Amino acid sequence: MCGIVAYIGSSNALPVLLDGLRRLEYRGYDSAGVALLQSGRIDVRKAVGRIANLAEEIEKNPVSGQIGISHTRWATHGAVTRENAHPHSDRSGRLHLVHNGVIENYQTLREQLIERGHEFHSQTDTEVLAHLVGEAFEQSATQDKGSLVEAVRSALRQVIGTYGISVVHADVPGVIVGARRGSPLVLGIGKDEHFLASDVSAIVAHTRDVVYLNDYEIVALQAEGFEISTVSGGGAGFQISRVEFDASSVDKGKYPHYMLKEIHEQPNTVRDAMRGRLSLEEATAKLGGLNMTNSELRAVDRIVLAGCGTAFHSAMTGEYIIESLSHIPVECEFASEFRYRNIPLQRDTLAFVISQSGETADTLAALRESQRKGHRTLGICNNVASTIARESDGGVYMHAGPEIGVAATKSFTSQLTIFTLLGLLLGRIRHLSHSEGRDMIAQMEKLPDLVARTIELESQVAAIAKKYAQAKNFLFMGRQAHYPIALEGALKLKEISYISASGYPSAELKHGVIALITEDTPSLFIAPRDAVFEKNISNIEEVKARKGPVIAIGTEGDTALKKICDDVILIPDAPHYLSPILSVIPLQLLAYYIAVELGCDVDKPRNLAKSVTVE
Ligand code: GLU
Repeated sequence: MCGIVAYIGSSNALPVLLDGLRRLEYRGYDSAGVALLQSGRIDVRKAVGRIANLAEEIEKNPVSGQIGISHTRWATHGAVTRENAHPHSDRSGRLHLVHNGVIENYQTLREQLIERGHEFHSQTDTEVLAHLVGEAFEQSATQDKGSLVEAVRSALRQVIGTYGISVVHADVPGVIVGARRGSPLVLGIGKDEHFLASDVSAIVAHTRDVVYLNDYEIVALQAEGFEISTVSGGGAGFQISRVEFDASSVDKGKYPHYMLKEIHEQPNTVRDAMRGRLSLEEATAKLGGLNMTNSELRAVDRIVLAGCGTAFHSAMTGEYIIESLSHIPVECEFASEFRYRNIPLQRDTLAFVISQSGETADTLAALRESQRKGHRTLGICNNVASTIARESDGGVYMHAGPEIGVAATKSFTSQLTIFTLLGLLLGRIRHLSHSEGRDMIAQMEKLPDLVARTIELESQVAAIAKKYAQAKNFLFMGRQAHYPIALEGALKLKEISYISASGYPSAELKHGVIALITEDTPSLFIAPRDAVFEKNISNIEEVKARKGPVIAIGTEGDTALKKICDDVILIPDAPHYLSPILSVIPLQLLAYYIAVELGCDVDKPRNLAKSVTVE
C-alpha cells in the first residue's frame, strides 16, 4: 500500500516520478504528491485522487528538478485530504518525506514534539516522522549527507511500526535518504542516476539492476553512487539483482484493464507454475524450493495454510486438494488471526504462508510468528524478491509475472496449481501409486489448454453479466472444493463492482440463506458433473421453487442444468483437483464484465489497494 518513487540524476525527475507513480497506482490512489529539489529549494505539489489529478495540478503550476521524491497514498491515518497527502515536511519546511507504513507510537511522539514547540498540519502518522528527522538534523553539528543519514537513523530509532521512506533536504541538495522496515523499498542503479521505489515495476523502464533493501537498512543515494548502512549504525552488504521482466510486462498491452489482461494470461501462468516441476519418470512433482527431503516430507502429519483475501480462498481450496491427494489433514487460517491466535502446532506440522506480493503485512507476521515457535514455515509467493521469499524456510514461487490488477486473478489459479503439485508430491510419498501419479501428470499437462478453452466463454459470460448487472445482491454456491471458489467469486464481485455478494456451501442454503432468495437475487451455482452434482441440482430446485434466478457453471455436455437454470455456462471436464482452476474463471469474467457494465474502475476499486503492507 502506498507507492514511493524517488529519483536523483541528471535528467528531469518529474516524468520519471509521474510515470513511476502511475505504475504504482495499484498500491494506493487516495492522493498523490511530489517534492522536487532545484537551486537549493524544494517545491511540493499535491492533489487528492488519482495521479492524473496531480499531473493536472503540475501542468497548472509547473515544477522541475533533477532530484525528487513522490508518493501515491492509501490512507491509514487521517482522511483523504490535500493536507494529509505526502510529502510531509518538518518545521523548517526544508525537509520533505514520503512514507509507506504505519508509525504505531505516533500519538506519543506527536505530543512530545508539540511540547517541544512543533506544529502539525496534518492528521497523519507520517508528519511525526518528518518532524523527528528534521529536529535531529537541526541539532547536528554539520549539515551534510552524513548528518541527514544520522538524523534519519536517530528518528527511526524512536519509532515503533513499519516504514518505507524517502527523504530530501534543501540544505543537502545532492542526496536522497531511504530506509525500510516492514514496507518494501528497492534501489535502482542507473548510469549516473539512482532510483528508489516501493516496487520494481515503477523503475524497470529505466534500469533492471536493483538492490532489494532489507529491514532496518538505510540508503543514501547520490547521482553517482549509493551507500547502505543500518538503523543500528553498522554497515550493510548488498547484492545487485537483475530484474527478469521488462517494462512491457507491466503494461496493459491490447487490453482495456490489467484485470482482463491477467485473466487472459492464465493459460500461460498455470503452465509456468508447473514448468520443470513434473517428472513423468518418477511420476511425481519436483519442488526443490521446499528445501525438504522426501523423508522429512513423509514425517509431516499436519499442514497449516495461512493467507489473506484471495490467498485465503486459495488456501481453503488447497485444503480440499491436498487432503484428497495426500490424506494429510490441512487447516486454513486467516494470516491476520494466525499471528495473534496462539494456535497449537505439533512438532510435525508444516506451515505455508501464501501471498502474491510476498509483502502482505499480516502474512509476513504469521510467517515470523510460526518461525518464532520453531516451525519450518514455507512461502508461496509470486514476487521472488519479496520479504516472505527471503525470510521463509523455502517454498514455491508462482512465476506468474507481475499482477497489477487490484483484484487478484492469475495469482489465484497459480496458487491452486501449486497446491495440486503439492498434493501430488505428498500423495506419491504416501499412498499414490506410480501409475496414479503418471495419470495425474497427464491430466495436469492438459490444464493450460483447458484454461484457454474456459476463457473462450468470455462473450457468453459478458452477455450474462449485462443481464444481471443491476442486481443489488448476489449469492454464490458450490460444494466441496467449489465452495471456496464460490467465496472467491463473491469476493471478486464485491471488490470491483461493489455489489453485495456472499458465498456458501450449497447445502447451507436451507439453513438460513434461502431467506434472501427473491426474484431479484441471482444465485450462481458451481455444479460440475461430480459426485455431488445431484445434490447441487436439488439445491438449485429449491431456489427455483422460490423464483430466484439461477446461473449455473456446469460441465460441457451437461443437459440437466439447462432445463432448470436461467443461464448456464459449461466449462471443460476436469478431475476434481483441477476443476476449481477452471470454475473460477467464469466468476472472474462475470465480476469483470459486471463492473465494466456499471462503469466501475476495475483496476483501482474503491478503498482497496494491492499488496496490503499495513496491518
Ligand atoms: N500512514 C501513512 C498515511 O496514512 C501511510 C499509509 C500507507 O503506507 O498505506 O498517510
